[in-house]
Amino acid sequence: MISKNNCKYIFVVGGVISGVGKGITTSSIGLILKNRGLRVTALKIDPYINVDAGTMNPTEHGEVFVLKDGDETDQDMGNYERFLEIDLTRINYMTTGRVYQTVINQERNLEYKGKCVEVVPHIPMEVIKRIKEAGIVANAEVVIIEIGGTIGEYQNMLFLEAARMMKLESPKDVSFVMVSYLPTPGKVGEMKTKPTQHAVRVLNGSGIQPDILIARGETKLDEKRKEKLSLFCNMPPDRVVSAPDVDSVYDIPINFESENLSSKLCDILGMVCQKPDSKRWSKWKSFAKHAHNGKETINIAIVGKYFETGDFVLSDSYLSVIEAIKYSSYAQNKKPIISWLNAVDFEKSPELVKTLKKYDGIIVPGGFGSRGVEGKLKVVEYARKNKIPYFGLCYGMQMMVIEYARNVLGMTDANTREVNPKSKNIVIDVMESQKDIIDKKSYGGTMRLGEYKANLREGSLARSAYGSKEVIERHRHRYEVSSDYIEKIEKAGLVFSGKSPDGTLMEIAELPKSVHPFFLGTQFHPEFLARPLSPHPLFTAFMKACIKSK
Ligand code: GLN
Repeated sequence: MISKNNCKYIFVVGGVISGVGKGITTSSIGLILKNRGLRVTALKIDPYINVDAGTMNPTEHGEVFVLKDGDETDQDMGNYERFLEIDLTRINYMTTGRVYQTVINQERNLEYKGKCVEVVPHIPMEVIKRIKEAGIVANAEVVIIEIGGTIGEYQNMLFLEAARMMKLESPKDVSFVMVSYLPTPGKVGEMKTKPTQHAVRVLNGSGIQPDILIARGETKLDEKRKEKLSLFCNMPPDRVVSAPDVDSVYDIPINFESENLSSKLCDILGMVCQKPDSKRWSKWKSFAKHAHNGKETINIAIVGKYFETGDFVLSDSYLSVIEAIKYSSYAQNKKPIISWLNAVDFEKSPELVKTLKKYDGIIVPGGFGSRGVEGKLKVVEYARKNKIPYFGLCYGMQMMVIEYARNVLGMTDANTREVNPKSKNIVIDVMESQKDIIDKKSYGGTMRLGEYKANLREGSLARSAYGSKEVIERHRHRYEVSSDYIEKIEKAGLVFSGKSPDGTLMEIAELPKSVHPFFLGTQFHPEFLARPLSPHPLFTAFMKACIKSK
């Protein structure tokens, strides 16, 4: 039924609560296996109907992570790329919507040869096809598949069914890791195993027995509870791995290896692997140490709007930005302290900008729509006039251009068409290629997405940061600097130091160093390319400017 290849598959599922750490577990397992000389790739399954994450508000689902081929995916894909130091493509990401869409298209094309197409087995079979293809494309020896959601939900059942079918077909090649949560209720004061026992039984109901249980909790799992879980979850005690809360996610692979997880997985799957690569491993360890060291702190403000969820504040919407800041700070032996500032607050009380004085640097990240825009513009103006290092990412670069047009060129109503189509000075306009798309309201997956090249201007900040003439970066936008204003703006002193190879799209804007220590924005999203062991050059240049002007 399903063709064989020589790949091993590790499914990662979650029990008891959402947000239990499946993504970091998947990434960490990938890292420790890669460190044993295995070729690894990872794949994320999101059980929702959305075809991709691009149409969701970040407060719903966290950051939209853009792959090099332009797929708009879940933030976990960013974790996989960062931990594994690999580039993934759309075959590494699947949603219920995407799978159904393919099956329905195949049915319309008569590819099922007149058969009745059914939810089972045809949906799981498409899932399996995609998982195997991801392995083949990456020439991987191990594919790690994270199944989103929590065990017991209706939504991920068909994916578990696919996993069960794969195990049935090839028992020695498929294994299951369950990440589960062990609460320690305040009043009780004792770590409780029962919810996890139940979760494993529910998973058993899908015909699946976990091989490894990752026991997440506030504290380390003790021997007594390890034995209890072993007995009631039907696995040897050494297959229960303690995973207490840590300050930095980069410690997790190190903790896993202190419990010999890579060796356990190799045993379970009968994989022959090398001894851990000590050079790579010590590099990772010394990087991870920085999260705890860094004597001197650097204060960075991120001014955005995707923070609130009910009464809670979420930083997930800007995960890659935060990580990029960390890597470039750690590399300078500094510890970043990040503050979340709501752009809307600066709209309500403009005098608040004065509080920005205490920050060593300001970032305005990507965004959409009009809410908070006037607040962001106030922040950009303050950073420019007071020479506070400023880094604008996508919308943050567009804000720079609007602010400059308003306050330096005197075009008081300058704006982006996205916010005010009636403005007389639309300095940020819709891209030509986007007009038809917006008219037809065909919003899903249609922005200017993924990798594009940019040429860098000689003598610019950008060029000296990158140390190269051209760069390839990932994009996600519909609007651009209007060609009607480029000359006027440049004449007034703002430099477009990065342009598309045909010279039509402005990719980077900056002020010369003689005017401002660091005032730079990118139409692309450099944060998607920052990796722990290779920080992004622009973030590094920004952090260096922050340190200098501290
Ligand atoms: N809303 C802006 C655009 O579509 C910026 C997008 C972004 O920040 N990712 O061009």
